[in-house]
Amino acid sequence: MQFDLTQEQTMIQQMVRDFAQAEIAPKAAEVDRTGRFPVETFEKMGKLGLLGLPISEEYGGAGADTVSYALAVEEVGCACGSTGLSYAAHVSLGCGPIYYFGTEAQKQTFLVPLAKGEGLGSFGLTEPSAGSDAGGTQTRAVRDGDEYVIRGSKSYITNASYARTIVVTAVVGTDDRGRNQIGAFIVPTDSPGFSVVRTYEKMGLRGSNTCELALDDVRVPAANLLGTETGGFKQFLYTLDGGRISIGALSIGIARASYEAALKYAKERVQFGQSISKFQAISFKLADMAMHIELARLMVLKAAWLKDNHRPFTKEAAMAKLYASEICMRAADQCVQIHGGAGYVQDFPAERFMRDAKLMEIGEGTSEVQRMVIARQIGC
Ligand SMILES: Cc1cc2nc3c(=O)[nH]c(=O)nc-3n(C[C@H](O)[C@H](O)[C@H](O)COP(=O)(O)OP(=O)(O)OC[C@H]3O[C@@H](n4cnc5c(N)ncnc54)[C@H](O)[C@@H]3O)c2cc1C
Repeated sequence: MQFDLTQEQTMIQQMVRDFAQAEIAPKAAEVDRTGRFPVETFEKMGKLGLLGLPISEEYGGAGADTVSYALAVEEVGCACGSTGLSYAAHVSLGCGPIYYFGTEAQKQTFLVPLAKGEGLGSFGLTEPSAGSDAGGTQTRAVRDGDEYVIRGSKSYITNASYARTIVVTAVVGTDDRGRNQIGAFIVPTDSPGFSVVRTYEKMGLRGSNTCELALDDVRVPAANLLGTETGGFKQFLYTLDGGRISIGALSIGIARASYEAALKYAKERVQFGQSISKFQAISFKLADMAMHIELARLMVLKAAWLKDNHRPFTKEAAMAKLYASEICMRAADQCVQIHGGAGYVQDFPAERFMRDAKLMEIGEGTSEVQRMVIARQIGC
């Protein structure tokens, strides 16, 4: 086995770390407090080639592998959870489906600008009555000549207010057993009938944009259908498998930020005449945090490596996302605990980490859904 990163992976990791610490971290508290989406950060990330990092060069990307992308998401997420979530959603969910399933013409028209950083991408799967159970999708797409007419609504969609295109899932019919057949469509956000109904006020990740959408008889050319009319279900399952690697990486980023802040505070804070890091109760918490982060990173990078090597990675991506998100929540909780009262007030970032961490156990499939995926994969 080879545990060293390649020269290119190390270079990307270092470049993103330097950029994230210099440009993103100093704004993390402000974007959280104000709920401002940091557009200027994404412009800079586009110029650095980060918005198309794992997309091949022929489609405007940087041609890096999934391992490099996971390392990049960890660095961005460690600097700012909000920016990390919007970054991961743009690449894995906004670009991913078009890259994996798009025709050459779709890639040239819609993927190239996203990968070059000329606009953000977004993915609309969740609906008011279809969350964990995406089969319950109610948005419908009806063929009308050379167009599809899409009608419905979508909930909790990341980046939607700032997106150039959104890949939207919609029911196109039912199979012989009466189950919904779901297609996926590339919807330019300037299409008539498309609107952002509202932007949610969130517990955490407040600098990431999350919206409720309405599709009011939105007409898209039939050429905007991704893959086959009934292939949408399989497509989003594959897309979510890839997205889980990035949410795993983001979880490690937030866990690492929690650990680093807690370690620093524990060394500086003196009680009973010594640094609290000298108390075994505190040092064991820090030891567990360090161990969990290391283990989660190994699993995330393994899932990324499997994807890069065109091996099955559904089970590993679910395990990586599940484990990383749960140790992230735990690390953020312990970070608050180690800070004591200082952890509960906004003078320190600990409380933000805890609010940000919670989404990791919910987005891209809840922890319960990850366990369902793993159980299915092991033959239960
Ligand atoms: C900040 C944020 C960003 C998001 N970004 C996007 C995005 O860009 N695109 C997108 O499409 N969606 C997005 N989502 C939606 C997210 O993926 C869903 O919230 C998530 O999949 C859960 O769906 P739900 O909220 O409807 O919860 P529900 O499915 O209603 O689940 C509620 C609870 O029931 C449990 N549950 C459900 N079914 C089962 C079962 N069979 N067995 C056991 N337990 C079960 C769940 O685990 C959960 O604990 C985002 C959400 C948030 C909060």
